[in-house]
Amino acid sequence: MACKSEHDVPLGVYRTWVKYVETGQFPDNRRHFTVLRCNHCDDAPCIPSCPVTALYRRDDGIVDFDPEKCIGCKACLQACPYDALHIDPNTHTAAKCNFCAHRVEVGLEPSCQVVCPTQAIVSGDLDDPTSYITKLISREPVQVRKPEKGTVPKLFYIDADQSTLTPSASTPIKDYGIWNEMPNANGNGAAIPIEETNLLQDLVAKSAVTVYDVEHPSPWGWKVSAYIWTKSIAAGAFLLPAAGLTLGLVTDNPLLAWGGPIIALIFLAITAGLLVWDLQRPHRFYTILIRPQWRSWVAIGTFILLFFGVIVGLSILAAFAGAGGLMQVLWWPGGVLAILAAIYTGFIFAQSKARDLWLSPALPVHLLVQAAMAGAASLAILGLVVETTEQTEGFLHTVLLWSLVANLFVILVGELWLPHGTRDASKAAQMILRGQYSQRFWVGVVLVGHIVPVALLLANAIGGYELVAAAAGVCALAGLLAFEDVWVKAGQALPLS
Ligand code: SF4
Repeated sequence: MACKSEHDVPLGVYRTWVKYVETGQFPDNRRHFTVLRCNHCDDAPCIPSCPVTALYRRDDGIVDFDPEKCIGCKACLQACPYDALHIDPNTHTAAKCNFCAHRVEVGLEPSCQVVCPTQAIVSGDLDDPTSYITKLISREPVQVRKPEKGTVPKLFYIDADQSTLTPSASTPIKDYGIWNEMPNANGNGAAIPIEETNLLQDLVAKSAVTVYDVEHPSPWGWKVSAYIWTKSIAAGAFLLPAAGLTLGLVTDNPLLAWGGPIIALIFLAITAGLLVWDLQRPHRFYTILIRPQWRSWVAIGTFILLFFGVIVGLSILAAFAGAGGLMQVLWWPGGVLAILAAIYTGFIFAQSKARDLWLSPALPVHLLVQAAMAGAASLAILGLVVETTEQTEGFLHTVLLWSLVANLFVILVGELWLPHGTRDASKAAQMILRGQYSQRFWVGVVLVGHIVPVALLLANAIGGYELVAAAAGVCALAGLLAFEDVWVKAGQALPLS
């Protein structure tokens, strides 16, 4: 409450909060309380994720933020493994604990520390060997949250129960309320079984229940899934004509010469619209261009899309002006930018250190395969109304068929079935394969998005019907959209705190 009062934090969001976890079975049960907030990490992943340098480290080590710069892209919420950031509903910018920097600067303690009646919160200068906090930390056994993330947190817990520090070590609360009836916490029922591999966490998980907590909303929703989908179409629709024509796999024709670039331009425009629409402060979008942070893949990606858009626009002008020579030149940089546009989202996901499922090293390759699939599918559909050649049809059908097969293999084997590096990634993958997203995945992604179009394309290889290939393209695009939806949602399904 002191924090809320000090910083005028609105209802429903928190810079710091107390989580309650109950462990054990009646009569040997206990309730543990832990204060959670920003750790002011030494190697803070939130800082490089910000495209406009709104998050930064002060000289005194405090990780602070500037709401005047924030555009509300929520990349920092995905980068912080501790759920320490939220979007302020009043300012529509990111916010978090800033260690009461304005108080510390004038020699005061943070307001949460001042009001604590039992001195459970201690702050100070960790670089000063004579400070009380340094002595306390060197004397007592301390823990930090998620040390495996390598963020070097500067918030230390003395005598905290592991079940409160590790989110997956307790059964999440279903309905919020301090006096909830939890079946395995008070002995009224059996413990909720959780199949895990880590012995220590298993022991905790089978008897620990979170009984009071804050909500953990997912920062990214359908606009992000849709943006990945539209960007794949834009990149692929330009990349395939560029690759086919420059490598001499096909001869020039209207579908490739201007059909591909026009699809790319339309879907690039939709991509940009979705990106800006998803910002909490859309009118500040231009600040990425004038004040980019080059460590942020959101910023790098914006420039990739911008340059790609310029080349695509020039290609369309060249195609309509009949400037074949210029087109030949533009295919090369356009092709390279199309590849970069397809794969850079993989690096945004890699900067989302909080979301273990998205930290797959195969993601850039996966996105490139998806772009090839989306490009071939969209050109196959456009081929119904735009003049093309049998050779081009064969090229597109071959690319679509093999990219579908490769994509299914990469999703099932590379992303979901192969062992994952962390148990959270494994749990998120299980949610897709067998849990709450399984119906959408098996029916929408695998059946409609892959098996049906592959069957249609194989039939098309026998009969040679354009309509069948276009139908396969529609199914492939629908399946890809379903996959992006499942991937974005499952990646954010597990609580971070
Ligand atoms: Fe704070 Fe999270 Fe950034 Fe660490 S990563 S400094 S906990 S906001």
